[in-house]
Amino acid sequence: MDFPIVDLMDPGACYRYLVDLLHPDGLSCPRCHRSDGMGVQARHRAPVLDYRCTHCGRVFNAYTGTPLHGTRRPPAQWVLIFRGFAQGTPTAQLARELGCDRMHLLDLRHRFQERAAGAATQVGAIPGSETEADEMFQNAGEKRGPAPEPGRPAPTPGQQARGHGNFANDRPPVVGVVSRDTGAIVLEVVERTDQETLIAFVTEHTDDGATVYTDEWSGYARLSAEGRGHATVNHTPGQREWARDDDGDGIREVHDNTLEGLWAALRTFLRPFRGISKHYLHQYVAVFQWAYNKVGVAGMVRTLLGLPLSTPTAS
Ligand SMILES: [Zn+2]
Repeated sequence: MDFPIVDLMDPGACYRYLVDLLHPDGLSCPRCHRSDGMGVQARHRAPVLDYRCTHCGRVFNAYTGTPLHGTRRPPAQWVLIFRGFAQGTPTAQLARELGCDRMHLLDLRHRFQERAAGAATQVGAIPGSETEADEMFQNAGEKRGPAPEPGRPAPTPGQQARGHGNFANDRPPVVGVVSRDTGAIVLEVVERTDQETLIAFVTEHTDDGATVYTDEWSGYARLSAEGRGHATVNHTPGQREWARDDDGDGIREVHDNTLEGLWAALRTFLRPFRGISKHYLHQYVAVFQWAYNKVGVAGMVRTLLGLPLSTPTAS
């Protein structure tokens, strides 16, 4: 028996949670911004109340002018939807739990996740003098994974080889940097892993003068010319060396195991979604980034709503 979990939640508490998120300084008239003349106009959607501003006559509610403008879902359902998006609950499971339509929920998810992805692109350099940079390739096709089109030849082993994944051949690359000092990460889905793309990404997201540890992929070769200290690790299969002591001080500092662990965590996060379209992959990667940077559920919901974060990075 399906018993909607929404019915178990306190609608008033959920409504107040949403109001506090959307209006941290308190609810006020969206036109004249005064909060001292709000008369209740209608209660038929309680706990969502319609107000009329006694100063300018504007009728509004807590959702007016926000991403929830015009929506009719009960506040408890919104809270559970945001919680599910923030926690990476697969859409099919969330739809079952909430008793709502899966495709509609998927549309909603993409609408809100796009805001979280937009905020993720605004993150500048991660603080830290020691950083790692690397890339991984995620199988993701137009819609349901990398099913080949009829008549299109199967990819040759060479195209499947490391370094040859790109957005067009349904192995979109995810590039990442991690700060060894704070653990904060920045990730981005890119078209291809050529030198221009990698250097632009790494210089945007690392501090001037930071040391960047990478593998020996030639795309990173120009990093030293961009004001970064650059050290490489050999990842060629059969010749892997996970840590190397470059400067002879006895500390094996040249490794990028942090990012290797990160990729494993990202793959684990993406797996339950089963066949994310490559056109939406950046959204799921952004949600993972926010979660990994420990912004908390409230912080995640803020990014989904397109609101500024109070705490921008992990510690
Ligand atoms: Zn007003």
